[in-house]
Amino acid sequence: MEAEKLEYFRGMLIEEMKSLLSEAGKTVTEMTSDSSNFPDPTDRATQESDRNFELRIRDRERKLINKIKEALNKIETGEFGVCEECGDEISEARLKARPVTTLCINCKMEAEQKEKRP
Ligand SMILES: [Zn+2]
Repeated sequence: MEAEKLEYFRGMLIEEMKSLLSEAGKTVTEMTSDSSNFPDPTDRATQESDRNFELRIRDRERKLINKIKEALNKIETGEFGVCEECGDEISEARLKARPVTTLCINCKMEAEQKEKRP
């Protein structure tokens, strides 16, 4: 891929990482700010499920951040935009929609079909 395009995707990935990190920072602040002083057990239950929800989101964010790091690493090594499965180039349209993708559309569709099979 041309250097100019790589720079474009690098910028996209860094922006996405930044917004994820600021979201994650916000989540942590929200979790620690009101330090669970709810006398009503119903409120406490609500708060617990909120917390589980936050943790799940953070898990997803963490995974996405790792994917972004991998993608940035691939830009460095020149493997960015190459399908991990078949070695074909991943279409730019697909990368623009989802720059962390590691599979071309054909391999992705195949993988999804495999997942659906019992
Ligand atoms: Zn492929």
